[in-house]
Amino acid sequence: MSKYVYSFGEGRAEGTGAMRELLGGKGANLAEMAGHPDLRLPVPPGFTITTEVCTYYYAHGRTYPDGLKEQVEAALREVERLTGRQFGDPRNPLLVSVRSGARESMPGMMETVLNIGLTEKTLPGLVAQTGDERFAWDCYRRLIMMYADVVMEKAAGREPYKGEGIRKFLDNILEAYKKDKGYQFDVDLTTADLQALVQMFKDAVHRALGEPFPEDPWQQLWAGIGAVFASWMGKRAVEYRRIEGIPDTWGTAVTVQAMVFGNMGNDSATGVAFTRNPATGENFFYGEYLVNAQGEDVVAGIRTPAPINKPSARAQGRNLPTLEELMPAVYAQLEDIRNRLERHYRDMQDIEFTIERGKLYILQCRTGKRTGVAAVRMALDMLKEGLIDEKEALARIAPSHVLELLLPRLDPETEAKHKPIAKGLPAGPGGAVGQVVFTAEDAVAWTAQGKKVVLVREETSPEDVDGMHKAVAILTGKGGMTSHAALVARGWGKCCIVGSPDIEFSPDGKSFRTPSGHVVKEGDWISLNGTKGYVYLGQLPLVNADPKHDAYFQELMRLVDKYRRLGVRANADTPKDAAQALAFGAEGIGLFRTEHMFYGEGSEKPLFLLRKMIMSRTAEERRQALDELFPYVKADVKATLEVMEGKPVTIRLLDPPLHEFVPQGEDKIEELAQALGVDPEEVRQRGEALREANPMLGHRGVRLGITYPEITEMQIRAILEAAAELLVAGKKVDPEIMIPVTCTAAELVHQKVLFDRIRAEVAAKFGLAELPCLYGTMIEIPRAALRAGDLAQVAEFFSFGTNDLTQMTFGFSRDDIGSFLPHYLEKISVDGQKPMSILPADPFQTLDQEGVGELVRIGIERGRRTRPNLKVGICGEHGGDPESVKFCHRVGMDYVSCSPFRVPIARLAAAHAVLEEMGVKVKKA
Ligand code: PEP
Ligand code: MG
Repeated sequence: MSKYVYSFGEGRAEGTGAMRELLGGKGANLAEMAGHPDLRLPVPPGFTITTEVCTYYYAHGRTYPDGLKEQVEAALREVERLTGRQFGDPRNPLLVSVRSGARESMPGMMETVLNIGLTEKTLPGLVAQTGDERFAWDCYRRLIMMYADVVMEKAAGREPYKGEGIRKFLDNILEAYKKDKGYQFDVDLTTADLQALVQMFKDAVHRALGEPFPEDPWQQLWAGIGAVFASWMGKRAVEYRRIEGIPDTWGTAVTVQAMVFGNMGNDSATGVAFTRNPATGENFFYGEYLVNAQGEDVVAGIRTPAPINKPSARAQGRNLPTLEELMPAVYAQLEDIRNRLERHYRDMQDIEFTIERGKLYILQCRTGKRTGVAAVRMALDMLKEGLIDEKEALARIAPSHVLELLLPRLDPETEAKHKPIAKGLPAGPGGAVGQVVFTAEDAVAWTAQGKKVVLVREETSPEDVDGMHKAVAILTGKGGMTSHAALVARGWGKCCIVGSPDIEFSPDGKSFRTPSGHVVKEGDWISLNGTKGYVYLGQLPLVNADPKHDAYFQELMRLVDKYRRLGVRANADTPKDAAQALAFGAEGIGLFRTEHMFYGEGSEKPLFLLRKMIMSRTAEERRQALDELFPYVKADVKATLEVMEGKPVTIRLLDPPLHEFVPQGEDKIEELAQALGVDPEEVRQRGEALREANPMLGHRGVRLGITYPEITEMQIRAILEAAAELLVAGKKVDPEIMIPVTCTAAELVHQKVLFDRIRAEVAAKFGLAELPCLYGTMIEIPRAALRAGDLAQVAEFFSFGTNDLTQMTFGFSRDDIGSFLPHYLEKISVDGQKPMSILPADPFQTLDQEGVGELVRIGIERGRRTRPNLKVGICGEHGGDPESVKFCHRVGMDYVSCSPFRVPIARLAAAHAVLEEMGVKVKKA
């Protein structure tokens, strides 16, 4: 018979840490911690029901496989033996927790039930064990609340009672009771109060849910197990998996474990710790704890915890008694465990611990979520410490981590002039500016309207996950660095501040007040510095990060370059962008779009001359306008060539259809007409004449150069003279001229005649024996890819323009795919069939490797068959997308070219491509 249940207890375990797929992350790590000879940590005994049971459960109408019952009973007997307690025993009862655990951690997304096995009959036994009657009744009250919520309502698929759910309903009863008695806190409740409340809770549950709270321990256990399996398909778990790309088919395991209590008085505590600081990556033991509390209290962020030691206190800016001071012996044991865990797992671990009457238990450990900054620092530090090798260090850093290093932050100068209105814990770094909303639903709705929002909550709960994802930043009034909001935001690299005691919510929840007297309402703008934990009123400017001065970033890039083979260039067309690209390590420019000089700052004069050219009635007039434009084009190209100091610069000839440059508004038309001394009607007519039904398939790219060779001539001359002038001045240059929108070799031959003639003329003019300049083409039309063999007869290099190539391969307009793309990406169910999405991703962001990718492969293969040393690159947006970059490596491109800002990401992806070739698994997101 299949084995469905794996036991563990201090010193031994049936499973191991390698069995994540079967036991889930939590179950596998518990087995490892309990049983591995290097660890043998104090883990409360228990057992894990495998993910296979979850899969079976969903495939068989929510039923269990044969034999499970017997295996669970046997495993529970083993827990009884190890703890010396019996499940359901009135004198000495065993209580257990039932927890979820998927392969990948999904913080707070699935259900947990604690104190299972507690009934009216076993309660006296718990009193006997603990000598604390009040404690026992408090446990019972908690069980009823949790069980009614998780098992009887959510897992049973009941509609939330009275729209708010049974938990809220019971909470209201509790609050009303306390008010009635004049109590402020839960701790004010006496044993008699708790007894009365238990009865009230039971009555309310029966009335509200139509069935009584079960007094049979076994019924509680099985329903608890079922509830955890059911929570795998709960709304928020499904949502989280969609965001994180975790397949539904993995399923969750269920771990049943003997309860230990952190709420047995002031010698008890519970906490969460990280073997290194998860926000900064600094190598010190970082964590927080609460005295006399249950673990859930820390994660839920209901009470604000205290730091475990001095370094944590400094990092959190919290001056509260540390665990180290309060319980030095336990702390020393915990610190020893920290060191052993890190040595064993060779990675930063996130540990949950409980201290029950002075005895330490480890409840969970897993690889800790971290910010991008921390990921980079930890990987490189661990490399230096000899814990991991170079490949492992690189494999652990995801492109999104590096992106975070390049993340915007509040402009420091402006920030220095402002006073924060509130401070909190710096849970997620970087800066963000947005309008305040107070619910996750509003965050989703407002974002859909194109607004940027900061989600402000008292505390976040897993229900808020979609809204948290949509918001540009998150701010909470309660909670610590290990609260739900902090964990989730950190995982996403989102700006986040938690536990701000300065935020006082209004009763209607639509505004908050700060000690400075500011009242911030829904829709107001605030700015967050998530690195420091500061909140400002209004919209502070954001600036890009400056990783050039970050030693870890530099070290990472050195390592990346040691492994990667694919070249990385940038798309840049100004000296400023070129300099930025170089600073980020670009090895050249893969796309210089000449038309950019006609947009934005300083474009007035050249744009006017271009318009004059467009308005020309004769070739003679056109030539004259082009002559006037020539010095501008030359200066523009020269400036960037000079910055690039001999690195290759691919300069593309004019690409857009000319109508884009004809003014639209009446006043602009008048202005142009006046400047040119023509009738406005003539300008209007010229604009009309240039209008096309499908401009993207129209008179653009090389087609302009064919019909107006003088445009090509002017541009080539300008580029080559710019290069020649620099050469003569003793500078290095490496220009490449690129023809866009090519579909047939004849186009290239036509333009090449002009290129050859002008090159000879310019060389002669400057007295140069030779004027090196490659001549090549973009491949952005399917026909060009198919006929690449012909094109390579003329072209010395190819650059795949995958923006247009995607547009023309799919037949999707790159400019307005938004009308239907969301429907194509969404998982939809047709006629009740299994939900599916039409497309796995936006093909304009991530290269469609199957379709467009096939054209790319064909293009490279046929091109190189003609010209073996053909240089090949990509300059569409995909050049900066990590998965697409890896594809480019695999198909044998020489380089990718992307926006300057993405150059470091492309470099890392290129190194990852090499690691993957070696069979190393790399972190993707
Ligand atoms: C492309 O089509 O991929 C490309 C880089 O050119 P553009 O985006 O300028 O059309
Ligand atoms: Mg294009």
